[in-house]
Amino acid sequence: HNFIIAIDGYSSCGKSTVAKALAKKLHFVFVDSGAMYRAVTLYFLRNKVDMDNTESVLQALADIHIDFVPNTAQTQILLNGDDISEEIRQMAVSEKVSEVSAIKEVRHAMVAQQQKLRSRRNIVMDGRDIGTTVFPDADLKIFMTASPSVRAERRYAELTAKGEDVTMEEVQENLSHRDHIDSTREESPLRQAEDALILDNSNLTQDQQLEIVLNAYYS
Ligand code: C5P
Repeated sequence: HNFIIAIDGYSSCGKSTVAKALAKKLHFVFVDSGAMYRAVTLYFLRNKVDMDNTESVLQALADIHIDFVPNTAQTQILLNGDDISEEIRQMAVSEKVSEVSAIKEVRHAMVAQQQKLRSRRNIVMDGRDIGTTVFPDADLKIFMTASPSVRAERRYAELTAKGEDVTMEEVQENLSHRDHIDSTREESPLRQAEDALILDNSNLTQDQQLEIVLNAYYS
């Protein structure tokens, strides 16, 4: 069967960095499930979709097509053919993404798309509910954590490097806001799978993290 590695955890714990390195090393496909929820959010913002109206949400979901295009430098994400890889990282999207991700219909649509990817290739997928809901039978599950200050500093550095005008307080506020909604929503809340390996990377280099995960994979 195709091999699945699930990496879950709170926002800005470094999940995608580990997932990308792992995918490169093992020649697996990396799937950023958060990018899918961000793409839906961008569509909702652009088209002023009324999130409280189930009809409008379902109509929007039927109009949304998300594609991943593996590129030499980075995987591009397309929303109805448009490259939105950069735009979905903006603070405006981060501020709404957890609300959109808490909508039951949105989760059902995204989970179904994520599960379909399994038939094609070996994958490393990162997110919040990959080891619990999307692939409860994943071959390897990692749950990543890091101290709140480390996470906020990483996120702040990332955003300011891209020229976003944000303060450290805004970043901290956004992370705790998303963590709260992600872990208290009704539909597949963020939980650590019982059989997940916990990886606290507050004081680990990227190479050390990769080594720990590779050891788990080979054992
Ligand atoms: O991974 P990233 O931080 O880009 O994800 C953005 C948001 O998408 C998260 O804060 C969460 O609200 C939502 N998400 C989710 N389930 C996933 C991945 C992301 O609800 N599997």
